[in-house]
Amino acid sequence: MMKNFTGHHSNAILQVLWDYVRLHHESTVTAPVFPVLLAFSGYLAFCIPFTLVDLVGHRLPLVNQYKIRKSRPSVQMMGQCLWQAVFNHLVYVLPAVGINWLWRPPAPLPATAPTSAQFLSGVVSCLLVFDFQYYVWHRLHHGNRWLYKAVHSIHHDYMLPFSWASQYLGGWELLTLGFWSNTTPLLLKCHPLTTWAFMLLSVWMSVEDHIGYNLPCSLHNIVPWGLCGGALAHDLHHQQPNTNFAPFFTHLDRVFGTACTVPANCK
Ligand SMILES: [Zn+2]
Ligand SMILES: [Zn+2]
Repeated sequence: MMKNFTGHHSNAILQVLWDYVRLHHESTVTAPVFPVLLAFSGYLAFCIPFTLVDLVGHRLPLVNQYKIRKSRPSVQMMGQCLWQAVFNHLVYVLPAVGINWLWRPPAPLPATAPTSAQFLSGVVSCLLVFDFQYYVWHRLHHGNRWLYKAVHSIHHDYMLPFSWASQYLGGWELLTLGFWSNTTPLLLKCHPLTTWAFMLLSVWMSVEDHIGYNLPCSLHNIVPWGLCGGALAHDLHHQQPNTNFAPFFTHLDRVFGTACTVPANCK
């Protein structure tokens, strides 16, 4: 077990993983485009199983019982979302990565992994900050007609969400989300492992928001006290757009009076 830069013992499992990454994949993980590839790979990997579920789920009662609404996406709708995500990455995200690389060259990797506490608190803190940032942004873009039409309305083209629609976004919205995903861990001085875990978890939670299934194994059904909104809350946002603005948690919508759990009660 090694002491990290804070003088605490790093987690043994994370240290083994970190040593492997540093020894065998340092040039890959320090490449400026790595965070983008990680997030985009996560998007593909998380959506593919739900593509199968959407295509054949009506024949599988075991899965179909958890479908929130009856309608299903077509292959064409899925392709349109994937194309939009690829287009946004080519036209907006990759040029932004290039500019960021010129402005801020990659930093050397630390020798030690984070402690368990640093890893967990870092991931949760990043999720909470991101949740707040997106809540404010999201509410602003639904409250201002011009901002809604110019930036956010494309995401609401689909009233009934499905996994691929999680990245059916305008270029500026994706750039904003990418900016927060990259700067929030920097501000909180997170270890690269913590940062990558946060990025993958945030992509997973975004996909889960849109899957259209209220699965018993979904985070919002596992995390207690209804702390996570998940697919039920976000499905209602696509139905009743002035509710459930937060992407991951429910506390902000509850505190600011924008939470909705029953369609008939939504404003
Ligand atoms: Zn959505
Ligand atoms: Zn919205």
